[in-house]
Amino acid sequence: MTAFAYRGGQLYGEDVPLEAVAAALGTPTYVYSRAAMEQQYQAFAAALGAETQVCYAVKANPNLGILRLFAALGAGFDIVSGGELERVRRAGGDLRKVVFSGVGKSHAEIAAALEAGVFCLNVESPAELHRVAEVAGHLGRQAPIALRVNPDVDPGTHRYIATGLAESKFGIPIAAAPELYAQAARLPQIAVRGIACHIGSQLLDLAPLGAAAERVAALYHRLHDMGIPIQHLDLGGGVGIRYRDESPPTPAAYAEVLQRALAGIPARRVVELGRALVGNAGVLLTRVEYIKDNGSKTFCVVDAAMNDLLRPALYGAWHEILPVRAGRASPALTMDVVGPVCESGDFLAKDRPLAAAAGDLLAVMGAGAYGFAMSSNYNTRPRPAEVLLDGAGFRLLRRRETLDDLLSLEEV
Ligand SMILES: *Cc1c(COP(=O)(O)O)cnc(C)c1O
Repeated sequence: MTAFAYRGGQLYGEDVPLEAVAAALGTPTYVYSRAAMEQQYQAFAAALGAETQVCYAVKANPNLGILRLFAALGAGFDIVSGGELERVRRAGGDLRKVVFSGVGKSHAEIAAALEAGVFCLNVESPAELHRVAEVAGHLGRQAPIALRVNPDVDPGTHRYIATGLAESKFGIPIAAAPELYAQAARLPQIAVRGIACHIGSQLLDLAPLGAAAERVAALYHRLHDMGIPIQHLDLGGGVGIRYRDESPPTPAAYAEVLQRALAGIPARRVVELGRALVGNAGVLLTRVEYIKDNGSKTFCVVDAAMNDLLRPALYGAWHEILPVRAGRASPALTMDVVGPVCESGDFLAKDRPLAAAAGDLLAVMGAGAYGFAMSSNYNTRPRPAEVLLDGAGFRLLRRRETLDDLLSLEEV
């Protein structure tokens, strides 16, 4: 399904002309389609079947309204901080379906997760295992854990979002895992529950995911032989989406690869999907401030910037940019689409053929994941509003920040 499409020369999201959203709420504004998110979730849940718990990776888009939407669909949640735990709680998510990942969990975060009764803490180092045991001991609880193993496979993605290589900071080398599982099994404050693995993000090739799952399966059997029963396998997330011309795995193909690698293993499965559920369900609406010609280059200066959408600056990521009103304005020119931030790295697109004039509205596509989530107030820029489309209506999920919001924590 494409939630965003032209009708009569106007770009719509669901049944709402995006111009109406900009007229009501201004720009820059993030706009998400409820139908698109629900459909992606249902497609993965159906393909993976009832033995798999789909957890939404909160960091991709942590807005409370979006968490509520996934909670209502039966999703669990993959969190990476105490802050995200609090978001799931306030959104009414089921805390017993929460997996807690991340290399740097603090004492307070571990305690909060144990008190909340989360499904599993995915432990990323021997030191963290001992910290979890210590905190659990203080609380008089047993901590349900998986070890996050690093299978040393190259996911073939951008190096900033590859997490399963030997050189990566994430997880425990899979060869060292059996010994650490044996230690964990001897700790009375620890309940060994699962094996976890996550090799990276924006994965387009299923082979590395299959290879990682096979290594996890081999570890499962090894632990079984050591007398350490494993109840669930958490295969991580990272399924990619189409930003430009990529061919990302379909839910069915993804499910089949996992199924094949894990055949005959009677453990429950967990996946942690972020980008694949929300990435193409969102756009960033922005208005053209100026067209500027430097002689050798033309710039389309818009009111959104790297502080609003960091992916192009951080990863050189490519986002499609569409005029909200098609076939208007001037002939297409090849332009860099840039924001007002004082950095040469502040761009949304480079050398892009675009027909746009000052005052035009543009939609930056594929902005639902790691968009608002990575935004900042750099250059003292209040962050955008966020809006949820629902059929012919839309509602605010987060109002635009004001300067008072930004300055209220500071003292002169
Ligand atoms: C970020 C992350 C995910 C989700 O990644 P996507 O590419 O958004 O699917 C899943 N699991 C862990 C441990 C993560 O850090």
